[in-house]
Amino acid sequence: MKQARLQKIQRVLSLRQPTLTVLLEEVHKPHNLSAILRSCDAVGAMQAHAIVPRGGMPTYNATSGSAEKWVPLHTHKQVIPTIEDLQKQGYQVLATHLSERAVDYREVDYTRPTCILLGAEKWGVSEDAAKAADQNIIIPMMGMVQSLNVSVAAATILFEAQRQRQVAGMYREPQIEPVTLKRLTFEWLYPELAEIYQDRGEAYPELDEEGMIVQVSPQV
Ligand code: SAM
Repeated sequence: MKQARLQKIQRVLSLRQPTLTVLLEEVHKPHNLSAILRSCDAVGAMQAHAIVPRGGMPTYNATSGSAEKWVPLHTHKQVIPTIEDLQKQGYQVLATHLSERAVDYREVDYTRPTCILLGAEKWGVSEDAAKAADQNIIIPMMGMVQSLNVSVAAATILFEAQRQRQVAGMYREPQIEPVTLKRLTFEWLYPELAEIYQDRGEAYPELDEEGMIVQVSPQV
């Protein structure tokens, strides 16, 4: 049982894409937040970012398949410093925003470190954030309705990123450093225990091939 879980965790972590993420600008509906994290998990995005909406962060939706457990969400107060910070880390920030410089989302190279900026359900991406982004992208709309639901837009773009990365062989070899892979394996397999070790500032114990702990600290 533990071994099967270990194998699944190792397989999923070996497909994770640390250079693919999203930034949500005040997305406030729980079902949208949860659905976006679920798509992030499905394509292997390792983490997500969010600007806290005025009314506070939405709770997670119970039907999300607990994606928030596997895709940590980092919250930020202000959008422009967050965009600038991601750009300093080497990410191209793509704002999903209809502007004169917007291009079809399929024209972009998602094999580069990429952050997809998505806007609030009612207002969309702010003008300032769209300007600060490296590129504006749009999913062509050919119907009567002007825009998609934000989680649908996120999934559409994330799966194009997955397609391009698959073609480029980015799911063939682990993209995460071995030390991070080992750390996350322990945290995903033993989440409660991992917290205890973190609180104590102690290193995680080794795992054997079946995912069993080889040596436990005497106090745990
Ligand atoms: N009135 C808003 C506007 O003008 O942007 C509509 C917001 S839309 C319901 C919510 C978010 O979904 C947008 O900010 C964007 O992130 C994403 N989105 C919806 N339709 C899109 C499309 N066709 N192309 C790209 N992103 C889209």
